[in-house]
Amino acid sequence: MHKTVGIPRGMFYYDYYFLWKKFFNNLDVEVIVSTKTNKEILDAGIFNCVDEACLPVKVFHGHVEYLKDKVDYLFIPKFISLYKMEYCCPKHLGLPDMIKHSIEGLPEIITPVINLRKSNKSLKKSILYTGKYFINSNYKILKAYDRAFKEFVEYNELLDQGIVSLNAIEFDSLNMRPNTFSENHEMNILLLGHSYNIYDDYINMNIANKLKRNGIGLITAEMIKEEIARQYASQLSKRMFWTHGQRIVGSAFYLIEKEMIDGIIYISAFGCGLDSVLMDLVERKARQYKVPFTLLTIDEQTGEAGINTRIEAFVDMLKWRDNHEDNISTYG
Ligand code: SF4
Repeated sequence: MHKTVGIPRGMFYYDYYFLWKKFFNNLDVEVIVSTKTNKEILDAGIFNCVDEACLPVKVFHGHVEYLKDKVDYLFIPKFISLYKMEYCCPKHLGLPDMIKHSIEGLPEIITPVINLRKSNKSLKKSILYTGKYFINSNYKILKAYDRAFKEFVEYNELLDQGIVSLNAIEFDSLNMRPNTFSENHEMNILLLGHSYNIYDDYINMNIANKLKRNGIGLITAEMIKEEIARQYASQLSKRMFWTHGQRIVGSAFYLIEKEMIDGIIYISAFGCGLDSVLMDLVERKARQYKVPFTLLTIDEQTGEAGINTRIEAFVDMLKWRDNHEDNISTYG
């Protein structure tokens, strides 16, 4: 019988699911993903997680609770650094330990350490550590990973070109990615923030669809090539040492300077230290180029009515600016 690995649908799932799934499948391991975030998942997350955690971390706890009795293993990497001289949020690093200490009755957790701060060498160790749970051949494990990684690279290239529907990897809300630049929208909005806040429809109250229903084209940071985002992030006087920050700030700077967007909506988790810095950097640039910017903060108390009102007001303001030669304040 195939062994099963559970991947909680939260945090880095939105960045690396495709790679992980291919890797495990190449090792003949079945991957089970938790269901989309819903009220039960959120409630379970709030119940199991410490109060001080940000919303995506709480949600992640809920996904683990959902999966724990359904799989042989859980896969929760410990993300320290994804790039030379860069770091991840401390909560990414602490996630596996938080889970172990918060939730009872867990299956074994596979926790490779991802720390590429000095070099990529340690990645091989992490791959072998993970694969050894299922097969005792370094050669086969590394081959399985190489094949998965090649497909992951190709997949991302297609995404950059807007070709592949993300439904292919279960990101239903991301139908928006492929059509953004190809369709003639009246206006385009950059939906900015950490991937797990942007692509989880439940926690952000389906902002993407609300905008799409208004005929607005959506752009996300993931649609901008990494090299371009990094190049634009390098304008900062001090090096951005958060990897997610490189992507968020760099892609926003690029789109603002190239005049490819009419407005920016930043979705931030309440209490996120990284977001408070990133958002400020993007807002300053937006102000300089007179691009309207608004911040939507989400936590478990956020009401949908409030979000709807904020979005409607922002879209109305964009339309008014469009019709009145942008003599309306970009900040309401
Ligand atoms: S970056 Fe912000 S939202 Fe993400 S885990 Fe850290 S504190 Fe939470």
